[in-house]
Amino acid sequence: MDNSPVDPVAYMDVLKKTRRRRRYFFGVVLLYIPAILITYYISPTNRAMGTLFGFWVVILIIVTFLAAVSRCPRCGNYFHMHGMTFLVLRKCLHCQLHINSDKIT
Ligand SMILES: [Zn+2]
Repeated sequence: MDNSPVDPVAYMDVLKKTRRRRRYFFGVVLLYIPAILITYYISPTNRAMGTLFGFWVVILIIVTFLAAVSRCPRCGNYFHMHGMTFLVLRKCLHCQLHINSDKIT
């Protein structure tokens, strides 16, 4: 079951969703530095920085959760979770299915 052949058509929708969630995750992580800089220019107070940080953490928790519960279309396990370990790699942590395996051929 774990190494059944790749079926690009059947995996396309699920992998598309997983890729979108990964983009959200990396986007939120990378957004932190510019958001902090912009807030610093507008209002360099501890309160403004703290508020931004609070918002950012809440959004990060949401996108991390969405990425973590993405399931692998081949083995049915969580794509980015192995036990309690959360790793955003390009392959399924269980069956090594590549995130872009629906794009081959
Ligand atoms: Zn898998």
